[in-house]
Amino acid sequence: MSNVYKKTDVILIGAGVMSATLGSLLKELAPEWEIKVFEKLADAGEESSNEWNNAGTGHAALCELNYTSEQADGSIDITKAVRINEQFQLSRQFWSYLVSSNLIHHPQEFIMPIPHISFVQGEKNVSFLKKRFEALSNNPLFQGMEYSDRPEKLKEWMPLVMKGRTSTEAIAATKIDSGTDVNFGALTRMLFTHLKSKSVEINYNHSVENLTRTADGSWEVKVHDIHSGKQEYHTANFVFIGGGGGSLSLLQKTGIPESKHIGGFPVSGLFMVCNNPEVVAQHHGKVYGKAKVGAPPMSVPHLDTRYIDRKKTLLFGPFAGFSPKFLKTGSNLDLINSVKPNNILTMLAAGVKEMGLTKYLIQQVLLSNEKRMEELREFIPNAKSEDWDIVVAGQRVQVIKDTEAGGKGTLQFGTEVVSSADGSVAALLGASPGASTAVHVMLEVLEKCFPQHIEEWESKIKEMIPSYGLSLVENPALFNEIHASTAQMLDLSKKELVYR
Ligand SMILES: Cc1cc2nc3c(=O)[nH]c(=O)nc-3n(C[C@H](O)[C@H](O)[C@H](O)COP(=O)(O)OP(=O)(O)OC[C@H]3O[C@@H](n4cnc5c(N)ncnc54)[C@H](O)[C@@H]3O)c2cc1C
Repeated sequence: MSNVYKKTDVILIGAGVMSATLGSLLKELAPEWEIKVFEKLADAGEESSNEWNNAGTGHAALCELNYTSEQADGSIDITKAVRINEQFQLSRQFWSYLVSSNLIHHPQEFIMPIPHISFVQGEKNVSFLKKRFEALSNNPLFQGMEYSDRPEKLKEWMPLVMKGRTSTEAIAATKIDSGTDVNFGALTRMLFTHLKSKSVEINYNHSVENLTRTADGSWEVKVHDIHSGKQEYHTANFVFIGGGGGSLSLLQKTGIPESKHIGGFPVSGLFMVCNNPEVVAQHHGKVYGKAKVGAPPMSVPHLDTRYIDRKKTLLFGPFAGFSPKFLKTGSNLDLINSVKPNNILTMLAAGVKEMGLTKYLIQQVLLSNEKRMEELREFIPNAKSEDWDIVVAGQRVQVIKDTEAGGKGTLQFGTEVVSSADGSVAALLGASPGASTAVHVMLEVLEKCFPQHIEEWESKIKEMIPSYGLSLVENPALFNEIHASTAQMLDLSKKELVYR
C-alpha cells in the first residue's frame, strides 16, 4: 500500500540537532511555512546528538589543542580557534533568544558552565602550550585564560589529575572558566518539543528511502513507515538532509551533480565512564590533552565532567575505532554501499593515502581494557579498572573529496554543506566541530538555499543573533556584551550544578 500526500514547504530528514536548529530558525523567519520531519528512530536526538554518543563539549576552541597549529617558524596560528569561537557565540545567542522568548526553558538542562583545561606533558608540548597561551590570552575572545606549569597550581585546578603523579616530566596547563558542557541530546529534544508546539509535523519511525525531483523542480521523498509497513510519498519545495551519518547515501540518491565524487570514512568511538561517585566528585573540568602522533584530530583524549540525566558524571575518551557503519544504528554494508561509480576513484585514492589512519583505527579497536586504562592513567595516575565502564559513542563519517590542496581522495575533518545549484536540497556531511556550531552551519544552509529571502530575514536574524555578519574579534565591546548577556540568559554564571 502507498500514500501520496499534499505538498509542503520544507521536509527535514532526521531528528538530530541540525534539523532541530534549522527547523527552529525557519519557524522564526517564515512562521507560515509548513514543515514535516521524518526520523527513522523512535525519538529525537538518538544518534550522534544523543548525550552518550558525543563528548558534549561546547567547542569554542578554549581547550582543544588541534584548533591551534604550530607553524614551521614556531609561531602559533590561531585563525581556526578564533573562527570556531565566533561560531560558538552564534549558538549561544540563538539559544539565549529561544530562552528569552520562552520557546525553550530551563537552560541548565542543556548547558552548564565548566572550566576548559588544556593539559600537556613533556618539554616540547609545554613549550607549545606556553606559546599558544601567549597567542590567545590577549585576544578578546579568550580573555580569562590562565597558564601554569607549577604543580601546586595544577593541583588546585585538577586535583584528581595531579594525585599520585610521580613522574618528573615537565607538565603545564591552561584553564579558562568560561567553558561549557552542552547536553546536545536534551537540547535536541527541547527543540523538537518546541517545533511540535508550532505545528511542525514530526514523524518518528519513518525512514526516508529515496528522493526524486519532480517536474516542477520540487522533491518527492519516499518514506517507509516502519510500524505500518506502508510506503508514503511526500513532496516539498525544499529538503534538508540532516541524517547525520545517513546523509551521504540520501545525498547520493538525489543525483545532483554536487553529490558526485564525494565519499565517507566512518570513525567509531568509545568512552570510558566512571561508575564511582567518589572519583567523579574529585574532578571539575574538561581536560583536553594533545593527540598522539599519527592519531586523527577527533581522537584527542580528554577527561570530561559531564552533566547527564541530571547527574554529574566523568567520561574519558573517545577512543577512535573502525566500523563500516555510518550510523550507530546503521548496517555493516554502509561503507560498501556508499561506493558508487562516480566516487570509486576518490575512495580508492583516500584508501591509499590514509593507510596510516586505517592502521591506527584498527589498532585502537584492538586495544584491551588494560591498554585503555594505561591511557587513562596518563590523566588519572591512580585510576582503578573497577571504577570505569565502557560506553559505545556515536559514529562520525568524515568526508572524502577531491580538493585542490590535497588532491584526489582527501579526508576532511570539518563539516560540509552540499546543496543543489537551485537551493532546493541541501545536506550536511561531516561531524566536526559538530553540534556546537549547528547555528552557524544552519545559517549557511539558509544563505545558500534561500538567497532571495535573506534580505527580508536579516533584521529578524540580527534580533535573534546580534553578531550575525559581524566579526566579534574586531568588535570586542560587542563580544563582551554578548558574552555577558548570553551567560546570564543561559544561567552560566552559576558555578555549581543547580537543577531547578
Ligand atoms: C564520539 C563523538 C564525539 C563528539 N563530540 C562532540 C562534542 O564534544 N561537541 C560537539 O559539538 N560535537 C561533538 N560531536 C559531533 C556531534 O555529535 C554531531 O556533529 C551532531 O550530533 C550531528 O547532528 P546531526 O543532526 O547532523 O546528526 P544526528 O544527531 O546523528 O541525527 C541524524 C538523524 O537522522 C536520522 N536518519 C538517518 N538516516 C535517516 C533516514 N534515511 N531516514 C530518516 N531518518 C534518518 C538518524 O536516525 C538520526 O536521528 C561528536 C560526535 C561523536 C560521534
